[in-house]
Amino acid sequence: MSFRNRLRFEHQLAALVGVLCLALVAATVGGAIWLERQSAVGLAEDRLARLAVGMAESLDATVRERFREIQVVAGLVPLRERWAADPSMTRGILAAMHATAPDYAWLGFVTPDGHVRAGTEGMLEGMAMNGRAWFETGSTRPTVGDVHEAAILNRLLVRIDPEPLRLVDLAAPVRDAGGRVIGVLAGHLSWDWAIRVRRRLLDDGLPGTDLWVLDRNGRVILGPRLGVAPFDPVRLGAMTEEGRGTFAATIAGETQLAGFASAAKGERSENAIGDPGLGWIVVAMRPEAQILAPVHHSIHALLGLGAGIALLGLALAWSLGYRAAAPLRRMTAAMGRIGPDTDATTLPRLDEAQEFAAVAAALSALLGRLGAVERELSDATLRSTRVAAFYRRQIEDLRQAAGTDMLTGLLNRRGFAGPAEEAFEQARAGRRGVAVLVADIDHFKRVNDQHGHDAGDAVIRHVGALLAEAVRGSDTVARFGGEEFVLLLVGLGLSEAAHIAERLCTAVRNAEIAHGGRVMAVTVSIGVATVSAGDPDIEAAIARADAALYEAKARGRDRVGVAAAREEAERAA
Ligand code: GH3
Ligand code: MG
Ligand code: MG
Repeated sequence: MSFRNRLRFEHQLAALVGVLCLALVAATVGGAIWLERQSAVGLAEDRLARLAVGMAESLDATVRERFREIQVVAGLVPLRERWAADPSMTRGILAAMHATAPDYAWLGFVTPDGHVRAGTEGMLEGMAMNGRAWFETGSTRPTVGDVHEAAILNRLLVRIDPEPLRLVDLAAPVRDAGGRVIGVLAGHLSWDWAIRVRRRLLDDGLPGTDLWVLDRNGRVILGPRLGVAPFDPVRLGAMTEEGRGTFAATIAGETQLAGFASAAKGERSENAIGDPGLGWIVVAMRPEAQILAPVHHSIHALLGLGAGIALLGLALAWSLGYRAAAPLRRMTAAMGRIGPDTDATTLPRLDEAQEFAAVAAALSALLGRLGAVERELSDATLRSTRVAAFYRRQIEDLRQAAGTDMLTGLLNRRGFAGPAEEAFEQARAGRRGVAVLVADIDHFKRVNDQHGHDAGDAVIRHVGALLAEAVRGSDTVARFGGEEFVLLLVGLGLSEAAHIAERLCTAVRNAEIAHGGRVMAVTVSIGVATVSAGDPDIEAAIARADAALYEAKARGRDRVGVAAAREEAERAA
């Protein structure tokens, strides 16, 4: 049946709820993942920006402090007279400065003609510094030069660090009371200080984080790859412009999130004491993959949880559907039984829900009406069966009456036709011989005349009964009207039939017929013939028997006339 192809209710419900659950879980998990990713990225950017700012501020603070310090010392009025005096005195001042700022690789005082008059630990004394940028600029105004590799000091100083010594040069002119430049106070600040700050910040930071310092041309001056320019000019320009911020960039094939901050940018470079204007940019970076790694962990957890919830929802929906369909199944089973089983007439009560109860009630009502109609139908059928039987009987009675002679109860001409036809067919087929006897009461008219019509009737009845008794049950006796009878004797030849006819004549002759206190006696004449193969119908044989009867009457009555067989008659003719 076609409805077997349809999905079961619980499966449909489970599919629907399953899809809903999956959609809900997908939306929730997707949303959660997006939020978590956003928050992880936001946190990382924030952290990187703060790291960059921290580094920048640290660099700013030191450079600015050293820059102020060298200006302040160069401008100290009490020291004015000392610079030109004994170099050992100058060395003392320099040593004091070195003590407060141990990051100086070298401090010195250079005379206006470019020769080092005094240096810390006597280093570089007597050497000419003409042409050096810090000396040339420092002779006119305070200056800070960008970091560079040390040429001479690299050889003079004993270093633990394997990296070559790099320096930031600071210089400020020393003037006398008249404002004339009497020398240049210079300091070579060792870059090791910046390296230390970087290491400390990175040690405190998250693994995978890197920290670079770029000069104003974008080249790395602090970081793993010195001298390279990792960012394109557009990015560099944007960083210089914005001062601080975050961005994402692909560096060496890996996506990095970065925070940046400018350091020593030179906002107040015109001010004698202030920012030296080196235009450095600090960039803190961390690979995005590392930042998102914990997010990926929680994605897996969320996906697992979501799949679990979806499966649970599916199972719940399935069982809910199964339980919801249970009353329908019970109802279907009960109704299926009611069809073939006439004893099962009640439907189950469905109390699970209002709708089911309503369906059950409606079906019960329908079933009740069906039962009533069924009863009415069976009553009507019964009635119609009785009526039919009644009419059948009537018809049968009528049919019998139509074929029966009212006076004698024998067959009449109509009733005779059936058995005669049957016998004729048998005779024609040559299976058995059939003889036809036509009997007529002699001088019957006289009976009527002498004794009355009722007596005549009694005589006819009596003769009929005599004839019927005298032949076998398989033979046929009929009254053809008046006082004339026709007999069909089956399985007999002509001579046997003639013999029986004789017997009949005798039986009638000997009979005493009592009626109305009188006793009457009659005789009969009988014509005998047999059915021949050439006869077209039974009437032909009856006609021959009639002719023989006529002949018997003519010969004196109370006798038998035998018709010659058809062939003989034809031969004779
Ligand atoms: P035959 O020997 O030549 O046969 O002479 P018959 O008088 O018997 O012959 P016919 O045919 O002249 O007379 C028959 C009479 O039978 C005529 C009729 O009034 C009478 N008849 C016919 N049917 C009935 C009947 O049902 N009841 C009575 N009582 N008489 C009948
Ligand atoms: Mg007659
Ligand atoms: Mg007669």
